[in-house]
Amino acid sequence: VRKLLKDSSLFREEAFINGQWVSSSLNQTFEVNNPANGAIIANVANLTPSDAELAIEAANTALPMWRSKTGKERANVMRKWFDLIIANTEDLALLMTLEQGKPLIESRGEVAYGASFIEWFAEEAKRVAGTIPSTTWGDKRLMVLKQAIGVCAAITPWNFPIAMITRKIAPAMAAGCSIVIKPAEQTPLSALALAELARRAGIPNGVINVITADAEQSIAIGKTLCSSSIVRHLSFTGSTEVGRILMAQSAPTVKKLALELGGHAPFIVFEDADIDAAVSGAIASKYRNSGQTCVCANRMYVHKKVHDEFVEKFAKAIQTIKVGNGLEEGILQGPLIDQAAVAKVERHVADALSKGAKLIAGGKPSTLGGTYYEPTILDDVTSDMLITVEETFGPVAPIMSFESDDEVIKLANQSQYGLASYFYSRDIGRIWKVAEALEYGIVGVNSGIISNEVAPFGGVKQSGLGREGSIFGMDEYLELKYLCIGL
Ligand code: ADP
Repeated sequence: VRKLLKDSSLFREEAFINGQWVSSSLNQTFEVNNPANGAIIANVANLTPSDAELAIEAANTALPMWRSKTGKERANVMRKWFDLIIANTEDLALLMTLEQGKPLIESRGEVAYGASFIEWFAEEAKRVAGTIPSTTWGDKRLMVLKQAIGVCAAITPWNFPIAMITRKIAPAMAAGCSIVIKPAEQTPLSALALAELARRAGIPNGVINVITADAEQSIAIGKTLCSSSIVRHLSFTGSTEVGRILMAQSAPTVKKLALELGGHAPFIVFEDADIDAAVSGAIASKYRNSGQTCVCANRMYVHKKVHDEFVEKFAKAIQTIKVGNGLEEGILQGPLIDQAAVAKVERHVADALSKGAKLIAGGKPSTLGGTYYEPTILDDVTSDMLITVEETFGPVAPIMSFESDDEVIKLANQSQYGLASYFYSRDIGRIWKVAEALEYGIVGVNSGIISNEVAPFGGVKQSGLGREGSIFGMDEYLELKYLCIGL
């Protein structure tokens, strides 16, 4: 890997605590592999709960110094970090593709997207402001301050190895918090490269700590982070199942939580939609990152009148998705993260076909072998099929047809999840009505791509708690303090 990088010192296999590169106290490592070919690309420090305690202590020690800086001072050092990330885009994208599998073009996009949170929250750091309510007591004055919540912890997934970290670190740092991050065991290299750039930017020791661990130690470390009374905020992006565990584990210390959990996004095409636009939106929303995002379209509802046209154009469009190793030129869909991911996709497809779904395209692992899976479309899908309920996290588009707005709104809302939703229509009345009726935190109207740093990202129902990005994302990391001042 070192040889492939322009700057080989961005390749790190040790964890980052208190500004130092450290190995595990047990001297253990775990393997990181390249999903494109199964090759082992790194052996990374496998930390223990006691190592995690050291990281928490480091963050706690750094907190008073970092919190007492002005927003402008914090913004300056964050801006340096942002500039370094942008300057090292190629190396960061390469590391990401190597450990995660997404095509280079998407990795570069994620570096820019991930960095955008640092830029945005650095700017926002200067604008944190309390309020002065008008008093109802003539002899007293009232004031509300916003203060950093304290030491924060973050546990992040493998599907966006940089952005899911910066989306949490940036508002925390801007608010004046220090933070301990436990990246996914599949993708620690991107996180460690970010830490190296943070070090170079002059972010003080202990403000950012990255603790790496394999799947087993991650569970133990999760318990340590949750049970620590020093850690005041836990932010997690991952499965709903693990989110529930972390929520339960955080109850004894009454920790503030931000949970970005699973989704099951409906994608609705009304009869008045611009069908070509709907097809390109569907491609972007469904097959990006091989279908491994929590906002990927999971169920496509297409109005009966435009169903055949949509399916025909959609099937034609997916033929342009070239599957292969993300490092190669022109590849638009990389491998899935691991064999378990392929097994889940196969289970969903087999279940749908056995219950009467019609295969329009794909439907099987790619001839490339490994964890590659063909872009797939299933038609005549019905609500009793697994794929309409469980998150597939793979390149499979299940299509159902509908006849009325009320019917499709009801179907779309039939989910324990409530993260992203999408619909295509040109009718302004319908757009308002449907947008208001969808029980989702995010609604893409005539757009298959919705995420950016200025908009609040997050879900309702069992998709989680809180919002990331935007002015609202900052509030997660700030506590209100009310002062009542007698004259
Ligand atoms: P995915 O299914 O996308 O891998 P997970 O929810 O399993 O999502 O994992 C997301 C993150 O949560 C990873 O960093 C993983 O190591 C961590 N994780 C998984 N299980 C636990 C747990 N029981 N406690 C703490 N962290 C966990």
